[in-house]
Amino acid sequence: MKRQSVAIIGAGTAGLATAIVLAKQGHDVTIFEQAIVMENVGAGLLLQPSGMAVFQHLGALEHALDLGAPVDALQGWSKTRLLVNSYYAEAASEWTGLGMHRAALCAVLMQQLKTLDIPISMATEVTAVIDHQDQMQVDTLTQGVSASLKFDMVLVANGARSQLRPEVWTRLNQPYPWGAVWAIVPETTMLDYRILHQFYHGASRMMGLLPTGSVPESGQRLTSIFWSLPSEQIDQWINAPQDEFQKWQDEVSQIWPAAGAWIKDSIQSSRQFMPARYRDVVMTCFGQNRLGVIGDAAHAMSPQLGQGANMALLDAWAIGQAFAKSTNYAEVWSQYHQLRQPSIRFYQSMSRLLTPFYQSHSTSYGVMRDVAFTWMYRLPWLRKQMAATISGVKTGPLREIDLESIRRSHPV
Ligand SMILES: Cc1cc2nc3c(=O)[nH]c(=O)nc-3n(C[C@H](O)[C@H](O)[C@H](O)COP(=O)(O)OP(=O)(O)OC[C@H]3O[C@@H](n4cnc5c(N)ncnc54)[C@H](O)[C@@H]3O)c2cc1C
Repeated sequence: MKRQSVAIIGAGTAGLATAIVLAKQGHDVTIFEQAIVMENVGAGLLLQPSGMAVFQHLGALEHALDLGAPVDALQGWSKTRLLVNSYYAEAASEWTGLGMHRAALCAVLMQQLKTLDIPISMATEVTAVIDHQDQMQVDTLTQGVSASLKFDMVLVANGARSQLRPEVWTRLNQPYPWGAVWAIVPETTMLDYRILHQFYHGASRMMGLLPTGSVPESGQRLTSIFWSLPSEQIDQWINAPQDEFQKWQDEVSQIWPAAGAWIKDSIQSSRQFMPARYRDVVMTCFGQNRLGVIGDAAHAMSPQLGQGANMALLDAWAIGQAFAKSTNYAEVWSQYHQLRQPSIRFYQSMSRLLTPFYQSHSTSYGVMRDVAFTWMYRLPWLRKQMAATISGVKTGPLREIDLESIRRSHPV
């Protein structure tokens, strides 16, 4: 594509990474972000080999490795045994994941933005996007002051709760019945710190401990704790009296003694936890003419498979490839849909299929999961498929993205 002026709405993973890719191709990119400053908000995210390949493509992997925490495997424990033992190396010997604080991930991308001189309009909420066929209008509100700006193209990257994605492209947009509470504490010394630990008890109790690395300008290594809850119980759980919290600590110690001892040491109050609520967003179209939707705004899903940031990064890579290979917008979206639709469909279906086995009140789902996993891990082919699924590379039951082609692909 010849040089275009592109407005990107939202400075999360999707918006920042896409801005870098398009600016490297010489496009004139402006980012709008409603937050007043980029703060250290959020908990840990897991960068999968797919997301790490995009980081390498962006030239940002080394910086990410400095801040992040390498993760070799996902291990899932029931009260009595190890149910899931999925090493990335089962999919490819050199693969690992990288646990990162969301703020560290954004800081690495922001550093790249600075070197490319990409303008970012902070404290600016985009209130409307209007399609004038040959131009896009972006209406903004910055500290009470409204403005209307014109661009060749707009990419909506403003997260799961986007009000800007076209309704006619949206097939599903609903909250998940379950969410989580999370807290960040100093890195665990009692459990293997290169493992994402999950603990299950039936389908209604689940805890995750994610190696999170550090935030910029702090040497303190961190672990994120996630405790799964039905959405309507989240606020009550956080605000419960202290004796309720101690009962929770006792329950965790009784079901999973090793994790429980560490939890008692590292966290003292339910007020240290923050709420996380998820949405399920399914779109029939991700872009047409001068408008596109990327990241969680386009395909928010349950975090069970740990793909949110990785899908956003793959979107950024695919936008770059589509722009580089096209001469008009019809070609851009045709290329983009070819590159992204199979993977997005696969992960949305898998996440919808698997989530009730981890987050529901069903007794039978918990039993079925425990039996299935016990058998699955005995079969090398299934172990490999499981590792590839977690790695973020699947585009169908038997197809995968070639990560080497992403790492080596030139942004221009
Ligand atoms: C504050 C925050 C904390 C998060 N914490 C976690 C976490 O702990 N663990 C996890 O797995 N995932 C977390 N996520 C989600 C995770 O970042 C995403 O799943 C993933 O990175 C994909 O990102 P995205 O860029 O599509 O969307 P997001 O990361 O949601 O970014 C969207 C951005 O758009 C901005 N925005 C929204 N509306 C407007 C508007 N109208 N105008 C201008 N800007 C707008 C938002 O402020 C935000 O910065 C968090 C998201 C946010 C916003």
